[in-house]
Amino acid sequence: MSGAVRRVVIVLGDQLDRASSVFEGFDVARDVVVMAEAAAASTQPLSSKARTVFFLTAMRHFAMALREEGVRVEYTDLGASGAGSLAEVLGQRAKRLGGEEVRVVEPGCWHLKRALAEALEGTAFEGFDEDRHFFCSRERFERHCAGRRQLRMEFFYREMRREHGVLMDGKGPEGGEWNYDAENRASFGREGPGFLPRVVRFPADAVTRAVVCDVERYLPQLPGSAAEFDFPVTREEALVALEDFVEQRLADFGRWQDAMWVGEEVLYHARLSAAMNVKLLAPREVVARVERAYREGRAPLAATEGFIRQVLGWREYVRGVYWRHMPEYLDGNALEANAPLPEFFWTGETDMACLRDAIGQTLRTGYAHHIQRLMVTGLYALLHGVNPREVHEWYLAVYVDAVEWVEIPNVIGMSQYADGGVMASKPYAATGKYLKRMSNACSGCRYDPEVEQGERACPFTKAYWEFLERNRERLAGNQRMSMQLRNLARRGVKGS
Ligand code: FAD
Ligand code: SF4
Repeated sequence: MSGAVRRVVIVLGDQLDRASSVFEGFDVARDVVVMAEAAAASTQPLSSKARTVFFLTAMRHFAMALREEGVRVEYTDLGASGAGSLAEVLGQRAKRLGGEEVRVVEPGCWHLKRALAEALEGTAFEGFDEDRHFFCSRERFERHCAGRRQLRMEFFYREMRREHGVLMDGKGPEGGEWNYDAENRASFGREGPGFLPRVVRFPADAVTRAVVCDVERYLPQLPGSAAEFDFPVTREEALVALEDFVEQRLADFGRWQDAMWVGEEVLYHARLSAAMNVKLLAPREVVARVERAYREGRAPLAATEGFIRQVLGWREYVRGVYWRHMPEYLDGNALEANAPLPEFFWTGETDMACLRDAIGQTLRTGYAHHIQRLMVTGLYALLHGVNPREVHEWYLAVYVDAVEWVEIPNVIGMSQYADGGVMASKPYAATGKYLKRMSNACSGCRYDPEVEQGERACPFTKAYWEFLERNRERLAGNQRMSMQLRNLARRGVKGS
């Protein structure tokens, strides 16, 4: 390629989507793609080794695929990025290239969006392209919110089902109900999960191994490990992972959605969030594939609906909440929680068996399923009054699938109730007895979930009552907390 550059296309690490609008009308003879790895993007905010490796290797694979098509890719790797922020590195590249237009899809992070817009001042950049990856545009979400005093995911989800014709039977929901959650809450019981399907893994190839070396060399201080890294990092691998889920685990997804078992990481979950969040998979194709499996009689309705609710419902909904409420959302601390995050969140070294398992797995693999995140690590932080900002920084750092638009509403809102009820109608507060019911961790723990005082008192059970006591007044007006607060009051009477 020679001569003046026409279009400069900036591709961020979570925008690995060949179908995005910035590639429409792309001319390999005159257009250039700019991508960059910046060490600062892994330290501020912090990112674990596994998460950093995931983003960088997925980016390098994407750049390689573009080059195979003849696309000119100007790629800055970790060793060459210097001390600049990601926005600065990209801005400098774009300025050097010139170009008649500079195109970028809207970043999934409020702060990066602002920094990048600033860094591109003085170039031909005229505003971000809309992110078409999602079912629901930001403007569509605002229309959903108009005139509503309170947002609830369930109503949004129904609108999305109708609008996109997903799992519908004429004008009504398939099977007559919108929600089959009541069928989706089983635990494994004493017998345990029994035979579990093997999850397809993608051992590190040469590109990933080179990234691991770079991360060890330039960012040795990052937490966690990339030794077991095996996530899908190309579109082809992501499609294999989707098929593997649909064929092996979808049928049982719903039933065991909330169940946990020590040492079993994935159970019947999809393990597709990372691939979806960097846009190697589109939610539309994931939902369509899952619905097809149901229509072909390969998965029951409750499992299919349960899964589709996560992707078409929750995933789209949290993105809407993020953009609607940022940047103030990040400062939310409705329960005035100010305790520091315990050190064991970074090591997994604790005698609480449930936390040891969930955190250990997280630091080793960069993955934990929803109930581990919400009802083990999240619940502990909520009950112990850990500062929500610190909790957010931990979640953003340790999970391979962590990107702000999805992580922040789940942590600040759903798990820590720091938004005062925007995401969840009440705090997800429970005693250790919940964990005893849903997992086998308690049977290997030095604490007892039934015990509230003394040496064997379960730190969840003990802290549950302290949490209610501490927040009694703040939660008094919440109808959905009334039973829990009545139980607290009864204890007071008994104890007096
Ligand atoms: P499955 O359980 O198989 O679910 C299927 C898909 O549904 C997921 O891949 C995901 O795309 C979507 N999904 C499910 N639940 C949610 C949800 N609550 N919000 C948005 N999408 C959802 N998800 C992330 O992608 N990135 C995060 O950083 C993240 N942080 C979280 C932090 C906390 C405290 C909690 C409670 C949840 C968080 N989630 C996050 C949501 C959810 O836990 C993960 O999407 C899920 O565990 C990923 O594993 P999976 O692909 O096996 O999901
Ligand atoms: Fe966790 Fe308490 Fe059960 Fe121990 S007894 S595993 S701390 S819930």
